[in-house]
Amino acid sequence: MTVQTAPQRISILGATGSIGLNTLDLIGRTPERFAVEAVTADSNAEALAELARRHGARHAVVADPDAYKDLKAALAGSGIEAAGGPTALIEAAVRPADRLMAAIVGAAGLAPTLAAAQHGTTILLANKECLVSAGRLFMETARASGATILPVDSEHSAIFQALEPTQKDCIERVTLTASGGPFRTWSRERMADALPEEAVRHPNWSMGAKVSIDSATLMNKGLELIEAHHLFGLEPDRLDVLVHPESIVHGFVAYRDGSVVAQLAEPDMRTPIAYSLAWPDRIQAPTPRLDLAGLGKLTFEQPDLDRFPALRLAIRAMRTGQGAATVLNAANEIAVKLYLQGRIRFPDIALIVENVLEKHSHEGGSEPNSLADALALDRWSRDVARSLIPEQLERTG
Ligand code: NAD
Ligand code: MG
Repeated sequence: MTVQTAPQRISILGATGSIGLNTLDLIGRTPERFAVEAVTADSNAEALAELARRHGARHAVVADPDAYKDLKAALAGSGIEAAGGPTALIEAAVRPADRLMAAIVGAAGLAPTLAAAQHGTTILLANKECLVSAGRLFMETARASGATILPVDSEHSAIFQALEPTQKDCIERVTLTASGGPFRTWSRERMADALPEEAVRHPNWSMGAKVSIDSATLMNKGLELIEAHHLFGLEPDRLDVLVHPESIVHGFVAYRDGSVVAQLAEPDMRTPIAYSLAWPDRIQAPTPRLDLAGLGKLTFEQPDLDRFPALRLAIRAMRTGQGAATVLNAANEIAVKLYLQGRIRFPDIALIVENVLEKHSHEGGSEPNSLADALALDRWSRDVARSLIPEQLERTG
């Protein structure tokens, strides 16, 4: 075990979310190793202030400027600095800290996480949408500044652990596993009427609403392929997905000598979060221990791209390029929101994404080369997605 003098300071973007709370849970159990620098949330000032006080943070930020007054009031007398708005969010991301947990959901996390990458911060990356939306830019920025990116997504943590960097040229395939989500065995007809409360009920993982819906459509696995493509610098042809309903094997790397190296763990995000917090060391995590004899068997099957067209669309976008991925991500964020609001049906999520991608391609398929380009294309895609009328959605491919 590494001997440390002062606790490492950790900032957490998206502290009130599922990943943020799990991170704080681990930090709270290891006060001799970790201390909290900054915490941020979208608009829930009360929950953020409570977390900031409980964990002794120095700084707390709400992204929504309207929530600032409440945050300031809730932190009065605590000595914790309060701030609000998008610039304050970026400032929180670049405050001196040993590590930054990037756990905002959606492309909203791109600007602050990219700012941290520019500063050379060690980033624990949960926010996969930021790599889907601007992966090339993000990885180039991190390379230029020397920032270390440690994956938090369980599959990517698995690959990171199984991939020997000096043997990158010897890799044949990298496989991400997928649980298959709550509708793995449902027919297309049954899925057409799936309710949001059924879609968020994930069989193995407890997660935020957006990633839960993405897991039900399998868009999550598509976003993760694009995430892996950028994180590990792997060509799309070397990446694939295998459905594994038990969520015990999280990912594996197949080498040209026939060896396959996998990482296994009970499905609990505190394992990959703990790995990213402590890397290259390991800390104790209070997770259930794997009992393979108790499980008896593990099963695997191919994903069904007909019943889960969102995965097909994401694979196509990964092959097409950055512009398509930016568009796919933004359209999906809007479609998931509309579905959670009960305004569209479950299959409309993929249809909206497909229609927006088609429009982008017809209009020349622009490629973003900067943060401003990526944000503009993201906005364009959201506007198009919102303007589509569900009754007129067409399957184009
Ligand atoms: P969540 O919805 O539970 O939490 C999201 C956090 O981001 C909250 O703190 C929220 O206040 C903040 N936020 C939301 N919108 C914001 C905005 N516009 N500006 C600033 N902050 C905003 O989400 P989650 O499940 O914790 O997921 C976070 C990220 O981690 C996602 O990208 C998700 O795909 C990824 N991830 C999550 C899990 C999981 O188990 N939850 C697993 C793997 C990857
Ligand atoms: Mg994952």
